[in-house]
Amino acid sequence: MDRRDFLQKTGMLGIAGASLSFASQEQSAQPAPLPADEPVPANRVPYPANRPRVIIVRFGGGVRRRETIADSARTYCPFIYHDLFERQQGLLFPNTEIESQQGIVTSHAQGTLYLLTGKYDRYNDADHGLGVPFEPKAPTVFEYFRRKYDVPSHQTLIVNSEDRIDEEFYTFSNDHLFGIRYRSTVLSLYRYKTYLLRRRIAEGEFQGRELEQKRRELERMLNRDFRIEDRQRAEIPEIDRFWSKWQEYYGRSGFVNPRGDRLLTTLSLWALRELRPKIMMINYQDPDYVHWGPRQFYTRAISIIDEGVRELYSATQADEEYRDRTVFVIVPDCGRDSNRTMPVPFQHHFNTRSAHEIFAIIAGPRAFVPRGGTVDRLQQQTFAARAVGHLMDFETPRADRQSLLDHV
Ligand SMILES: [Zn+2]
Repeated sequence: MDRRDFLQKTGMLGIAGASLSFASQEQSAQPAPLPADEPVPANRVPYPANRPRVIIVRFGGGVRRRETIADSARTYCPFIYHDLFERQQGLLFPNTEIESQQGIVTSHAQGTLYLLTGKYDRYNDADHGLGVPFEPKAPTVFEYFRRKYDVPSHQTLIVNSEDRIDEEFYTFSNDHLFGIRYRSTVLSLYRYKTYLLRRRIAEGEFQGRELEQKRRELERMLNRDFRIEDRQRAEIPEIDRFWSKWQEYYGRSGFVNPRGDRLLTTLSLWALRELRPKIMMINYQDPDYVHWGPRQFYTRAISIIDEGVRELYSATQADEEYRDRTVFVIVPDCGRDSNRTMPVPFQHHFNTRSAHEIFAIIAGPRAFVPRGGTVDRLQQQTFAARAVGHLMDFETPRADRQSLLDHV
């Protein structure tokens, strides 16, 4: 059952349907698609050698504090807690929250957009359910970064899971001063499948009617992001080479490579090695399967993410460019309920207090994270964006003016 089916079965779409007519009006007002090869201004500067690489870990699929940072003896993410925070003196912000405001929702897409833009905005599930994906309403940290620095889009990466294809839309905002010129690049199995089909067509594998059918299929896959005109022209040679190597190693089937959040870790490890990103965001999500299953789905998935962060950390330590220069910024997309009347109290994240209660961890070399420890003051999820700007030295003018690192 996917998220939409789930919402339908639980009646959530009924509520969401109230603003249906509004959403369809918005859809018809869709601007014309943008050319993929819009030139980038020439006044950008090189990214300085003494600034850090940043890995943003969206500790997603919604996790609450209790199984992660609230009780050090019972954490399901021991590497993140005991190693990154305690042993290596990272910063823990245990009182980070998603603000309780009208229209601010504790869910995955929304939380991810709050993180990316550093701004709370209304993103209606009504629009989402009607097949109109969210797009960021303010520039993302990637766009701010690439507007200042002359860094190619294949070094500013978002690693996504295949079954959240809508998240492919988060690579750039609808802000006309930023947008597509400064977009980031997504790595996902969906992107791999698109690459494969394109290659197979180009290599002459299909003939006649089958060829026509495959061409249409590719067109549909490429044009999921209706905002980009002629998607083929947007293909990036470095990313093609990445997928070509991936294919040599894992083949075409998609059955050999790791699945779920382990796949995201593997993609990220490959990305570090092959693409050398300056900033990369990994959108982990599997703890969310607890919506449809037993509590172990949740706790085990937390541990798999923790293991992924450990592997990523080890990879950075074994690499000259990343060693002593990589900062991890770890923030959940949202929390989860603590509903004692449910057999699994943390099954969902229905805007309850506990679903607003998240945390953040920033860990890295002393040059960038000079002091470790717990920062108890109240923080907002949106403060993470300015913290990333602070670490990498770029402005985030439309994001919340506060940073997690303000009072450290
Ligand atoms: Zn969920």
